[in-house]
Amino acid sequence: MRYARIRDPAGSVRRGAYEDGTVTAGGETYDVDADAVDLLAPCEPSKIVCVGRNYADHAEELGNEVPDRPLLFLKPPNAVATPGSTVTLPAGKERVDHEAEIAFVIGEQARDVAAADAMDYVAGFTCLDDVSNRDDQNEEQNWVRGKAFDGAAPIGPCIADPEHVPDDAAVELRVNGETRQSSSRDYFMFSIPELVEEITTYMTLEPGDVVATGTPAGVGPLSDGDRVEVEVEGVGVLDHEVRQG
Ligand code: MG
Repeated sequence: MRYARIRDPAGSVRRGAYEDGTVTAGGETYDVDADAVDLLAPCEPSKIVCVGRNYADHAEELGNEVPDRPLLFLKPPNAVATPGSTVTLPAGKERVDHEAEIAFVIGEQARDVAAADAMDYVAGFTCLDDVSNRDDQNEEQNWVRGKAFDGAAPIGPCIADPEHVPDDAAVELRVNGETRQSSSRDYFMFSIPELVEEITTYMTLEPGDVVATGTPAGVGPLSDGDRVEVEVEGVGVLDHEVRQG
């Protein structure tokens, strides 16, 4: 199954079964492209835990070493952007990049979880664009300006059950229809169970929290008016636009 959240024509938030272009909730099927229905982010994370340099080819393209344990950073709830939204890029920056990521959503509170048990805590998968302001990222240790600005985490369009997403799921990103990133879960440096164990050694993951598993090679700059699509096999397509702030 795949699930999405919408604001229905009466203004109520509903969660329902997602099929490309439609959400069925409370016995009604809504066309998410119709003006009366807004597709929301598929969950409301208290935090998004992001993994840096989880693909060797991306570490290489930015001139970074491959780490011996996962590089972790956070995006706060203000970074969430809904499917189909327009992300305003921070003003006056030379380079703000797209980063296609396979993300997973936590289903049960998780703390000190062993890798062997990790998948019991994963509700499903979604798509995420780790929009990254390189000007500031390269100037700061904690990447707050670089990675945590409003709208820096478009997410969606749905949450797909783990059974819906193959172990070697493909991830692709297109800008204005042109493919820029193309890879798969096969190339992760750290597996999802390893990531859950490492993260929950340090912090509690709550239901609805999101872990973004890093981006493959092919990151590149965004400019005013670009339309971005992130596609994860088994999940679907997250689209968003950008405008220059
Ligand atoms: Mg990233």
